[in-house]
Amino acid sequence: MSQTHEKRPDLSVVIPVYNEKESLPELYRQLTDVLQGEGYAYELIFVDDGSRDGSDQVLESLAETDERVRVIQFQKNYGKSAALSVGFGAAAGDIVATMDADLQDDPREIPALIRKLNEGGYDLVSGWKKKRRDPISKRWPSKIFNWVTSRISGVRIHDINCGLKVYRNFVVKNLHPYGELHRFLPVLAHLDGFTVGEKEVVHHPRKYGSSKFGVSRFTSGFFDLLTVMFLSRYLKKPLHLFGILGILSFIGGFVIGAYLTVLRLTGHWIGNRPLLFLGILLMIMGVQFVSIGLLGEMITASQTRKQTYVIRRMLNLEQTVLPPQTP
Ligand code: UDP
Ligand code: MG
Repeated sequence: MSQTHEKRPDLSVVIPVYNEKESLPELYRQLTDVLQGEGYAYELIFVDDGSRDGSDQVLESLAETDERVRVIQFQKNYGKSAALSVGFGAAAGDIVATMDADLQDDPREIPALIRKLNEGGYDLVSGWKKKRRDPISKRWPSKIFNWVTSRISGVRIHDINCGLKVYRNFVVKNLHPYGELHRFLPVLAHLDGFTVGEKEVVHHPRKYGSSKFGVSRFTSGFFDLLTVMFLSRYLKKPLHLFGILGILSFIGGFVIGAYLTVLRLTGHWIGNRPLLFLGILLMIMGVQFVSIGLLGEMITASQTRKQTYVIRRMLNLEQTVLPPQTP
């Protein structure tokens, strides 16, 4: 089957890869079995996120023998969000699936997730690792993370950061995860007005290599959530957040200043009043906040979504699928 660039595939599977050499051949075999078995016209997009263990060579030999294997190789390790974001940009299929490269996610779940997407009329269906095969040190914090995120964001699913998900193509073209935001993809999609469903999936223990995310994932989780909420509400109007803080602060300072002015005019000595300093502080902070908000507005106005990842090379993909910074 040689539908490389002539026919639009039904399905693109985007797989971020960071030092997963041992898993890749098995993953490729499993995916090929399942997807060929289902009769899909598909492409596998491996985004090599700066691997240093020889994953690039394994991918290269896969791409040589199978032109449905596309490879995007990053110059350095930019993180899972970056890998997904660039993979999303390249995905041509009507439906886009994502999965991890470490054999913890099972390709046999993809057809079932797609059925759920179609039957439920969803824009995104996320896997739910109900029986999660990870150490307890990861399972419990993740339960708390999921509960809090689901409460705050209003996305009522159990497992927000499952590697296995299926999307309609136009959804991924509208998602631009960066930093650690890959953990919040269903939240980001929900904030853009897309419908999000979930389906239970099996999960396997890690067979080769080691987890790429340590304890730091939990400490930064709170800030990530803050970022998501901030971006969703105020990305396009930062002055609305900073402006209100600034004005409240300024008014507080102004009232204090006015009060002290009256005291001074009626003959009182105010030079030693702590209140004076508070008043000055609040007014300065007020001006600062408003200025920050205005700066934010200017950045927002001039910001175009720039792609700033250096791609070393691409295999079985035309250069035109990504913005023009590629070599
Ligand atoms: N990954 C990546 N870039 C990174 C870290 C991870 O592309 O900087 C990939 C990794 O190769 C795997 C997936 O993201 O395919 C999930 O990583 P991991 O299995 O380490 O996460 P965990 O299952 O421990 O949450
Ligand atoms: Mg894993």
